[in-house]
Amino acid sequence: MGLVVQKYGGSSVADAEGIKRVAKRIVEAKKNGHQVVVVVSAMGDTTDELIDLAEQVSPMPAGREFDMLLTAGERISMALLAMAIKNLGHEAQSFTGSQAGVITDSVHNKARIIDVTPGRIRTALDEGNIAIVAGFQGVSQDKKDITTLGRGGSDTTAVALAAALDAEVCEIYTDVDGVFTADPRVVKKAQKIDWIAFEDMLELAASGSKVLLHRCVEYARRYNIPIHVRSSFSGLQGTWVSSEPLVQKTQQQGDQKVEQAIISGVAHDTSEAKVTVVGVPDKPGEAAAIFRTISDAEINIDMIVQNVSAASTGLTDISFTLPKAEGRKAIDALEKNKAGIGFDSLRYDDQIGKISLVGAGMKTNPGVTADFFQALSDAGVNIELISTSEIRISVVTRADDVNEAVRAVHSAFGLDSDSDEAVVYGGTGR
Ligand code: ADP
Ligand code: ASP
Ligand code: MG
Repeated sequence: MGLVVQKYGGSSVADAEGIKRVAKRIVEAKKNGHQVVVVVSAMGDTTDELIDLAEQVSPMPAGREFDMLLTAGERISMALLAMAIKNLGHEAQSFTGSQAGVITDSVHNKARIIDVTPGRIRTALDEGNIAIVAGFQGVSQDKKDITTLGRGGSDTTAVALAAALDAEVCEIYTDVDGVFTADPRVVKKAQKIDWIAFEDMLELAASGSKVLLHRCVEYARRYNIPIHVRSSFSGLQGTWVSSEPLVQKTQQQGDQKVEQAIISGVAHDTSEAKVTVVGVPDKPGEAAAIFRTISDAEINIDMIVQNVSAASTGLTDISFTLPKAEGRKAIDALEKNKAGIGFDSLRYDDQIGKISLVGAGMKTNPGVTADFFQALSDAGVNIELISTSEIRISVVTRADDVNEAVRAVHSAFGLDSDSDEAVVYGGTGR
């Protein structure tokens, strides 16, 4: 029996009852002979509540203090979880990210892990403890300041520790039974996926399926750590995310490999906004100037579209999408460089949504794109931006249209299940 890393999300530890329920589950793994490292998120919607609180005090709080505040959420849950485990008669010790050796760069609010030195975790395990680690946080290598890894970052903490400790598996416990063909909160007929390859999961995560964070999947792929996404509320097998297909044991045919699906699923995201730079001179160097300004402000962008240049004016419009949380910063940075870049005005629209269809089979099935647009058109959904990769096609629409569009596409690609409805055990979907 080897070492397992288990991560419990906020909805699994939303209240005292949840913490006690999770503690029992952790103790079971220990009793089965595993060494257990647990990564825990802040209780329920604590992180959102702390963000709201900060915004009431200051509209743009300094990154360092913001991280100090947000990491408090995970400190509360790690200590309570260790107490609950001790109460069941087992030894447990809690550690902050910094104590667990999670070393990051110094970009506050979205730091990257650059090293993991889990010496204290190893010692705690060797002494027979269950180690509880606060997710979503680390310490910067140069300034020794407390950092956070971006929303949903506890997933990344878990995989990074699993890699550093050479764990057998990284189990991500959440409030649904695994990764589904669409968000079960939106599509009741979504189906649980038994196995999904890292590549497809990367695209789903990047397109907004927040059941796993994109960076966590990237990390798992780099170190080849299998992830098992499952519910902390049920005993069911969840979804395996790995490079090698899952082998299922069947009574009739013996071992059988689970096939890669042509379409993995439909993802949606309403956390982005669209910026349009209006009246940009249609000459070389303009796009470079705009996106240099954005990248200097350390803002990550997603889709970009340059509209057809209006020949008579010699001007063009450039639109791009970015996280809503960075909208203010982007507008400020562009306004500051307005004279240098040379554009007329800026437009900001935060009432957009993105819908993406993901699947390895797209490479070889040219009809997929047309079917996707047909499904949207049948649902009366207007498309504003389009972008594609080898195994994904995404569109931007009005935010109000997103849920309807996801259901229409899911159904059009034959992904609706005809049996059980997908269960959502907890969480507020916030
Ligand atoms: P946790 O608090 O455990 O980290 P999250 O809220 O971050 O949980 O992620 C779980 C949620 O992800 C689910 O409740 C579900 O609404 C959402 N979700 C979005 N897309 C998917 C998908 N394809 N499969 C499963 N869940 C999804
Ligand atoms: N508590 C953090 C958040 O809500 C990190 C996490 O849950 O993974 O984003
Ligand atoms: Mg999460």
